[in-house]
Amino acid sequence: MCLICKRIDMIKVGENHYAVSELETGYVVLGDQQRFSGYTLFLCKHHVTDLHFWKKKLRGKYLSEWLMF
Ligand SMILES: [Zn+2]
Repeated sequence: MCLICKRIDMIKVGENHYAVSELETGYVVLGDQQRFSGYTLFLCKHHVTDLHFWKKKLRGKYLSEWLMF
């Protein structure tokens, strides 16, 4: 299991203290390294290594949520 999938599993059971918010397609989390205060990431609930592995509908929804947060 990759590090991102492990982090997502931790969010699902309430053990990731860097989780900020859950959206429809992913989770907003604080970055492990805070080189810039408040640095956040948006992790998709369905982790893949490249955008083209997602179905078009999921990719569109994820990217629209990513642009909003
Ligand atoms: Zn993964």
